[in-house]
Formats: sequence, structure tokens, C-alpha cells
Amino acid sequence: MAYTITNKCISCDLCKTICPSNAIKIVGDRPWIDPELCTNCVDSIYSVPQCKAGCPTFDGCVEITSDYWENWFKNYKNVISQVTNKTDYWENWFKTYSQKYSEHKTVNS
Ligand code: SF4
Ligand code: SF4
Repeated sequence: MAYTITNKCISCDLCKTICPSNAIKIVGDRPWIDPELCTNCVDSIYSVPQCKAGCPTFDGCVEITSDYWENWFKNYKNVISQVTNKTDYWENWFKTYSQKYSEHKTVNS
């Protein structure tokens, strides 16, 4: 599976300059990874995917998974965050719940 650019990307274009397969193109003003050219950096001089390793943002480049629903939710989250400019509701809910739960455990232990 190839790598892909997510909505976390800030268009710094660093990945384009370091991709050993020349798989990253600028489409419009955004980088795009050609899945036909991306080799996941396998058989290159690098031991890790360079786009992911060099990206200054969290999850600017991620590997496309083969799981249908995982891809579906990723696309859904990308679209929703672009439309509403809000972070994921359930991610926030889980973070808040985890924090409250650990506070509760600390107080009661
Ligand atoms: S390195 Fe990351 S932030 Fe920069 S263009 Fe590539 S994906 Fe976007
Ligand atoms: S995984 Fe490697 S080959 Fe694929 S786009 Fe990223 S840097 Fe290029």
C-alpha cells in the first residue's frame, strides 16, 4: 500500500524534495502522492518512509490501509474537519473520558 497525504498537511513541500521515487507531485497548491510511483521507500537507501519521517506535522503522510472501513472513517474525518474546521468529536470525547477516568482512579486509589 502506498502512502497518502492527509488534511494535517501544511503544504511545506518537504516530502516532495525527499521522496526517493519522485512520487510526490504538487496538484493545485497541495502535495499528492502518486500511488503508482510510491514504493513505501522499500529498496531505497532509506529504512523508513521518508515522507512520514520528515513531515513536520503529525500524520501529514500516512500509509493507505487495505481496510475498507478504516479508509472510510479516515475520509469521513478529513471531510468533516475541512467542512467544520473542528477536531473529531469522538477523539475529543475519548481524550476527556480517559483523563477523567485516570483522575478518578488516582483519587480513589
Ligand atoms: S512534509 Fe508533511 S506537511 Fe510538508 S508537504 Fe509533506 S505531508 Fe505536507
Ligand atoms: S513512502 Fe517513500 S516513496 Fe512513497 S511517497 Fe513517501 S517518500 Fe515517496
